[in-house]
Amino acid sequence: MLVNCPICQTPARFMAKHPEADIYRCDCCTHAFSDAASMLKQESYDSTYYDDTHRRWFEHPNTALFDRLTAVIPYGGSVLDVGCGRGDFLRHVHRKRPDVQVTGIDYCPNKDETIRFLQGDALTLNIPDQFDVVVSLAVIEHVADCRALTRRMRELTKAGGTMAVMTLNESSILYGLARAGRVLGVPLAFNRLYSRHHIHHFTRASLRWLLKSCGLSVSRHLMHNAPVEAMDMPVCHPAVDAILRTGVWAVFAAGSVTSKTYLQTAICSTHTTN
Ligand SMILES: [Zn+2]
Repeated sequence: MLVNCPICQTPARFMAKHPEADIYRCDCCTHAFSDAASMLKQESYDSTYYDDTHRRWFEHPNTALFDRLTAVIPYGGSVLDVGCGRGDFLRHVHRKRPDVQVTGIDYCPNKDETIRFLQGDALTLNIPDQFDVVVSLAVIEHVADCRALTRRMRELTKAGGTMAVMTLNESSILYGLARAGRVLGVPLAFNRLYSRHHIHHFTRASLRWLLKSCGLSVSRHLMHNAPVEAMDMPVCHPAVDAILRTGVWAVFAAGSVTSKTYLQTAICSTHTTN
């Protein structure tokens, strides 16, 4: 069956069978993705997503990245976080920069009174405002129509404003080791990274392709990791957890040296590039 790449629309090739989805690779823009037709069940984003499955991720927010993004917000400006979750980034902005008006959108309710919160689907919700800065952090890889999300974020950004998209980096050392492990019969990391809740696996090249094709100009492309403490390990035993975490620390350190980090954040301006 022919499956087209969601980024550049050229036919992609079958890459691997995951227990939850068929994974495809595009040889044109290098993007990897789960074929929606092959997926058993979509991820649900109820409270167990935050409290259980990804508990450590939400307990250890990436404050270094938050600081870098806060720095691009103009004085007295506004910021929108698309898929704000519990509002960690917006609370951080509010604490450091009380001059900034902070707004978040998410499916899940949010009762934090420091945040102007809009509940619903960012793609369809009626939002009359535009913002100086629009960010989405670890969201785009979960959204089937990532092009529609990018266009929507652009619509919500003021002319001359800034957009920032943070996502996974499939060209990272961590992903490369996960693929090698699967070939060698140890699919634990592969199954974790390519699970159905990550529909898209952006490489540095495929993220830039998407943003440029939506009329955005990438002004800075940050290659970075998450805090090691934030990684949710698929093990319960403390000793095994400690060994795995040490391994992740070493992989992250190697990634930082080579720019093949686990995560990437593209910071864009909204003027058209071509
Ligand atoms: Zn492609």
